[in-house]
Amino acid sequence: MTERPKELTLAEQAASSYECRACGYVYEPSKGDSTANIPSGTVFEALPETWRCPVCGVRRSQFVNIGAADVASGFAENLNYGLGVNRLTPNQKNLLIFGALVLGFLFFMSLYGLS
Ligand SMILES: [Zn+2]
Repeated sequence: MTERPKELTLAEQAASSYECRACGYVYEPSKGDSTANIPSGTVFEALPETWRCPVCGVRRSQFVNIGAADVASGFAENLNYGLGVNRLTPNQKNLLIFGALVLGFLFFMSLYGLS
């Protein structure tokens, strides 16, 4: 058995961000906290007890879970479905859907032309 490559799991990618109720600072697990030498990818729950808000210094207990701000719900689950379409930006996706509709319409019309 070889060791698994060091990659973030979906759960880690979708880790919740926490907002400081005192000053509004948002701890994002994907960024970590460079001022406290917290490496990126550290979930809030894994922060040391001594960790304080890097902006105003309040305790961890003053932070509230605001969810995974940068991950739309269902996005992670759907990421690898549909030929990678979900990796596209919404604009690209709309373009693709529109293009498919136009192609489908042209195909439909060509069938009409043949009959
Ligand atoms: Zn704060």
